[in-house]
Amino acid sequence: MSDESFNRRDLFKRAAAAGAGAALLNASVGTAEKAMAAETVPTTTLGSTGKTIPKLLMGCSQKFDPVYDKVLHTALKEGVNYLDSGQVYANGQSHATLGTFMEQIGDRSRFWVTSKVMLYGKRAIPANYTSNLEKMLPDLKTDYLDMFMMHDVRSLGQLGPDYMQMGRDLKKRGLIRHFGFSCHHNSVVDLLNKAAEIGPEDIDAIQFRYSFAKYGDKDLNKAIDACKKAGIGLIAMKTQDSVPDDKDMVKSFQSKNYNLFQAKLKAVWADERIDAAVSEMTNLRQLRENVAAVKNTTELAMHEFHQLNRFAANTAHHRCNGCSELCESRVEGDLKVADQLRFLMYDECYGKPEVAKALYRELSENERAFEELNLADATKACPQGIDIVKRLSLAKARLA
Ligand code: SF4
Repeated sequence: MSDESFNRRDLFKRAAAAGAGAALLNASVGTAEKAMAAETVPTTTLGSTGKTIPKLLMGCSQKFDPVYDKVLHTALKEGVNYLDSGQVYANGQSHATLGTFMEQIGDRSRFWVTSKVMLYGKRAIPANYTSNLEKMLPDLKTDYLDMFMMHDVRSLGQLGPDYMQMGRDLKKRGLIRHFGFSCHHNSVVDLLNKAAEIGPEDIDAIQFRYSFAKYGDKDLNKAIDACKKAGIGLIAMKTQDSVPDDKDMVKSFQSKNYNLFQAKLKAVWADERIDAAVSEMTNLRQLRENVAAVKNTTELAMHEFHQLNRFAANTAHHRCNGCSELCESRVEGDLKVADQLRFLMYDECYGKPEVAKALYRELSENERAFEELNLADATKACPQGIDIVKRLSLAKARLA
């Protein structure tokens, strides 16, 4: 086990230590919380970049007020100056809104702006990433990005020499300061391992799905270790790993310091390999909760980790991991199981029915139709125990 190695057992040990301290302090919890809260949002150095970013990053896929957005302005005052955007976010409106916001502040240097371009198949070539980047900068009213990412990378081919050369060229042209990729797919382990081989000279940071529900994933843990050792910046997204049963868990979660949403974030920050976590904060209440959580230096206690652990196990049947090769390879035709379940999650858990419907409807008839197919083997192969027919039926009922 390397020095960098960090697993759930470590987290539990750490939680136990923190819990003991917390028990003493909880005698007067209100004062203790205030005493242990940092003044501003804590910062960290991103991988080997030498650059400082906040540990809480502003996810920008929601719609902001194009005139004056209170959440963005308040976030900046709190020190959350890292804007994580994407060309497709907010139906393509994210960049324009952020451009206006930065103009209102009037000092580009106060922000870290990351954006991403999502391309699949034959369109995912360096020339197309480059032209899309060139098009997005005027909307953002900036002439450079602090970080440019290839969005939702799924294959190792996209980490080939041509793509790394593209990153170097874009840096040389001054259009970007740092380069990396995001990954939502189950190929994340292979991609992280490949990135660790390539190293931070070409890949500065990776943004990937990571939450309390992933602690037990040994392969993912090894891949994270490899990236950390190589010096690549690691940013967690989808940290809430929401499922429809979340509402019950919110009510039953027992903690003196944190609500469930905060606890899920604290669980990610407890992993010292992860530099920062992106969170979409759609209103001031969510922003304040997240800011309070990141400022509060009280670590999660053992019983809080246990609750998250139980929650992960009890809700696994709702949590699609995106390992499409396991189920889709057992079905004839073009059926997209993982994509449909992801869109269902956007609707059920993120409260984004319009986005979910638009994405669902972009799939072809063959990619959606499942009624005539035998899905028994695919269902048997699913490591999460998902009832695939039931979930695809629900996706159709809600999104078609
Ligand atoms: S349905 Fe199951 S096997 Fe298919 S992608 Fe989701 S988790 Fe993986």
